[in-house]
Amino acid sequence: MSEPNRHYEVVSELVEKAATRMQLNPQVKELLREPIRTLTVSVPVKMDDGRVRVFQGFRCQHNDVLGPFKGGIRFHPEADEDEVKALAALMTYKCSVVGLPFGGAKGGVLCDPSELSQGELERLSRGFIKAIANIIGPDKDIPAPDVNTNALVMGWFVDEFSSIKGSYQPGVVTGKPLILGGSKGRTEATGRGVMLVIREAAKAFGFPLDGATVAIQGFGNVGNYAAKYLHDLGCKIIAVADIFGGAYNPEGIDPYALKEYELANRTVKGFSDTRPISNEELLALECDILIPAALGNQITKANAANVKSKWIVEAANGPTTPEADKILQDKGILVIPDILANAGGVTVSYFEWVQNNYNYYWAEDEVGERLEQVMVDAFQAVYGAYQGQEGTSLRVAAYMVALERLARAMEARGWVMA
Ligand code: NAD
Repeated sequence: MSEPNRHYEVVSELVEKAATRMQLNPQVKELLREPIRTLTVSVPVKMDDGRVRVFQGFRCQHNDVLGPFKGGIRFHPEADEDEVKALAALMTYKCSVVGLPFGGAKGGVLCDPSELSQGELERLSRGFIKAIANIIGPDKDIPAPDVNTNALVMGWFVDEFSSIKGSYQPGVVTGKPLILGGSKGRTEATGRGVMLVIREAAKAFGFPLDGATVAIQGFGNVGNYAAKYLHDLGCKIIAVADIFGGAYNPEGIDPYALKEYELANRTVKGFSDTRPISNEELLALECDILIPAALGNQITKANAANVKSKWIVEAANGPTTPEADKILQDKGILVIPDILANAGGVTVSYFEWVQNNYNYYWAEDEVGERLEQVMVDAFQAVYGAYQGQEGTSLRVAAYMVALERLARAMEARGWVMA
């Protein structure tokens, strides 16, 4: 399935497509062409055996015209700078399309956390935050969990940053444990956002959801909640796959029971009343909605022609390559793009930051209602742009909405001439 690594180029091409359609001010495009800065750091860590090891890390800040930078930090042996740069840009457009007052960033540390003891991981986390402390902060850049980082790591980040600043700074990161100012409703937010966008799109396109068949690749945080919310909406989850294999039942699978099974067995494979299904088979299933919710680059020019779903809803970041996207569009498959479909997570991260800033915390229902409003408005904005343009895709429409807001902010701040 491998196509060359050109993550940043792919995002840039999309920007170009949308910019041409909307006749974007060329100065705006110029300012978005490259990230504002990438800081590369070396982090010395005293290992358990007493020796010092130096880890490389970086933080890429793409654009902050709309507000402080926002984006995850991953710990991975092959954290790829080009991919991190692309993901930082994706955050700029994602925050803009849902109307959040944030810019886009992403960071990474080259390490294999499975080879580190808890103490080594903590010292590395604290060392990395110390190394980037000058360019982050609640008003500058707010990191979050990403691949191999979690609420525990965010707790260390907050503690280290607070001790550098000499005052408690919970708003410096999101995705924190509740006790440190995390938000209720964050865990389920991305899956819930996926459902809300599907619900709104179904209304707009007159697509009946009652009994609609759904196949989901990935049953982690996003896939599992998306399955539950869609099941509650009346959809029929017919197939789910994870890294170990899949489960298929054309009559429908109860995602709540499946989650219990997965917790006990670490995979969905073998769930009762299902037959095994491979990831490739799942992507080619006849169904109404296919939801890639695992990894990037899953639907490629090698398998796009086999896709038989009516819709694809990108819960993962970048699951469809541009070559595949074109094939899907020619086949008449509607693709709801990642920057819209999975924006529920960053939206509730924004709510977490808001709650930290005024030190007052919302009930879960309040978080849910506010998330719903943001996702409904974002869908309406993208759908509006889509309707006004012959032969475009929801993806290009989403970039048009994002770019229009970025352009207005740049003009209002005097970064470019109107
Ligand atoms: P997760 O780690 O909780 O779950 C990932 C799931 O994908 C697991 O079920 C895993 O088994 C499966 N998987 C991994 N490799 C696979 C493979 N080769 N084939 C099939 N399945 C595979 O991750 P998550 O938080 O659910 O995130 C999933 C995707 O959504 C990622 O692309 C992530 O960047 C994106 N995303 C997540 C959030 C969030 O809030 N968690 C927000 C926006 C976007």
